Amino acid sequence: MTPELWLEAHSYFRPLADLSAQVDRAAAGIDVLDGRIPDWEDYRADFLAGVPLLPSTAAAVDLEPGGRMAGALLERLASGAPSERLAVQTRALDTELRCEPHVSRRIADFLLGDETLSPPFPGLLRYLAWTATARFLRPLVKAFDGWRDEERWLRRYCPTCGSLPAMAQLVGTDPGRLRLLSCGCCGTRWRYRRIGCPFCESADDHRLSALAIEGEKYLRIDYCQSCRAYLKTYNGEGSETFFLADWTSLHLDVIARDRGLKRLANSLYEL
Ligand SMILES: [Zn+2]
Ligand SMILES: [Zn+2]
Repeated sequence: MTPELWLEAHSYFRPLADLSAQVDRAAAGIDVLDGRIPDWEDYRADFLAGVPLLPSTAAAVDLEPGGRMAGALLERLASGAPSERLAVQTRALDTELRCEPHVSRRIADFLLGDETLSPPFPGLLRYLAWTATARFLRPLVKAFDGWRDEERWLRRYCPTCGSLPAMAQLVGTDPGRLRLLSCGCCGTRWRYRRIGCPFCESADDHRLSALAIEGEKYLRIDYCQSCRAYLKTYNGEGSETFFLADWTSLHLDVIARDRGLKRLANSLYEL
């Protein structure tokens, strides 16, 4: 299914699709800065201890260029038509952040959980800054995928940035079908147990249920009967960018909420 066909069947997503396309176009126009790939042996002990790559002082990845790319993206979006809501909000953000010393560093720290930065529209900054930073991180995430022994991680949080997953994906065919968790921030996908809840870490498979959604061949909701948290799951392969984008399945979040389920998954989008 092409995104265009999918949008015809989900016309209520049109404004969000337009916003996402606008941000992606702007992000594609900014220069991708180079980052250093760490010496993996320096990082090995932290990895085995469960320390994600970006917060690891041993790996010493510098996220500041990602913050610089985020600043460039803000500037670009802020120059849009004065009547546009996105341009108005990014302009407010851009103006405020310009007064901040070492702003690129501050944005990078903000993405990793530093709460001392209190910008207007923090949700918008998080979304835009991760969009830019994910581009900066792409080569690093790829190299990390190549080095990482998935059997040695199997944790509920992202091995790269430490965020909780936004979604899950089932890959391969039974027997041996695998579940991956997908980070909505940096774009890493990593392996997790096929059964069990990543939020309360209950390994009791009888307490996990799958909810099929009418009209959605590739998406379902897995929820935990112990803690009532749910995780949207892409049950297919080949359209990861689209189906794991989180916003393309916000209707599942509405369904889950109506059923009294809790979103503990990380999200850059608020309902
Ligand atoms: Zn991540
Ligand atoms: Zn649970």
